[in-house]
Amino acid sequence: MPGTRSRPPRHLADLDPAARRAAAAELGGEPFRGDQLARHYFARLTDDPGEMTDLPAATRAGLASALLPRLLTAEREQSCDQGMTHKTLWRAFDGAYVESVLMRYPARVTICVSSQAGCGMACPFCATGQAGLTRNLSAAEIVAQVVAGARALARGEVAGGPGRVSNVVFMGMGEPLANYAQVMIALRRLTDPVPSGLGISQRSVTVSTVGLVPAIRRLSAEGLSVTLAVSLHAPDDELRDELVPVNKRWKVAEVLGAAWDHAGATGRRVSIEYALIRDVNDQRWRAGALAGLLSGKLAHVNLIPLNPTPGSRWTASTPGATREFVAALEARQIPVTVRDTRGRQIDGACGQLAASARPSEGPRVLPLMPPVPSAE
Ligand code: SAH
Repeated sequence: MPGTRSRPPRHLADLDPAARRAAAAELGGEPFRGDQLARHYFARLTDDPGEMTDLPAATRAGLASALLPRLLTAEREQSCDQGMTHKTLWRAFDGAYVESVLMRYPARVTICVSSQAGCGMACPFCATGQAGLTRNLSAAEIVAQVVAGARALARGEVAGGPGRVSNVVFMGMGEPLANYAQVMIALRRLTDPVPSGLGISQRSVTVSTVGLVPAIRRLSAEGLSVTLAVSLHAPDDELRDELVPVNKRWKVAEVLGAAWDHAGATGRRVSIEYALIRDVNDQRWRAGALAGLLSGKLAHVNLIPLNPTPGSRWTASTPGATREFVAALEARQIPVTVRDTRGRQIDGACGQLAASARPSEGPRVLPLMPPVPSAE
């Protein structure tokens, strides 16, 4: 298995401002060179030393290659929805594959990032879960997915003209709270003000989890107002034990208890993710049971029509069952939306990311973004 033990190269985005300055000094530059590099990377979205004319020519290439190594190489690009949805397959230094998906909407641009190569949570309906975990991504590998999207948008390479990334969702490959330390560093870099970070609003970042209760509680204590999404998928432990195997360890009541405490600590409404699976979890009584759990809580239900994965015995609920499920929640005043199926044609919708298993498959290969400039 590639990269089970080796670590990705150190990158500026792994480091806080003080550590960047120390690293620049160690490399023989003045400490403020660390700040200059951060400005290039986070504000100008470049890691090309040729563009860093404020750095002395003699040390520029050395600093850039030591602190801005290229971590991810775009191996394949796919687009759909008239270019408004764009999936990138990335190859890491060790050959591990991850994917990110950029989705442009009228009033926002959301990037869905991976936090691990593969995933160890083994949810049976999720394509990523089938392949198992390859390794954790480093903070900089997570941030690099957002920087690449931000760069493509800033340069007008995404349909709809120049723009910026407004939202980040940790709903790509991996369980973010199982890679806690690196995800926390990445959250800081994404939300630190420009030019120390990307300046994305904390409230516009969503961390989605299967429900690792101790990690949810740690997150709530970080003082970050990020939005929490809980992948519930069933209101009862019996079914959830099957759909989200980690439920055998932390039950529905404990997971929701931690979620409500997060809402209390941050003031952020918790997003309850529920993939509607035909005749499995879409019964009226389950909608009623779900409403009972959420009634009066700071929560919003996101129903996701199941994206069937290859070889799966499950399929999406019928439109009629979906409407009834929505109606049952609305009748109890539970806010609910049905998620759009952005990216479905390019296997870029929820739960379809399985790059490591299928790196070379896929129709409609549209090279839209240029390769990330090399640091050399
Ligand atoms: N590990 C995290 C984040 C990754 S997935 C988590 O589980 O929350 C993001 C969302 O997509 C989760 O709610 C996940 O359960 C859901 N999902 C996975 N496979 C899916 C599929 N085949 N169809 C619809 N949603 C799916």
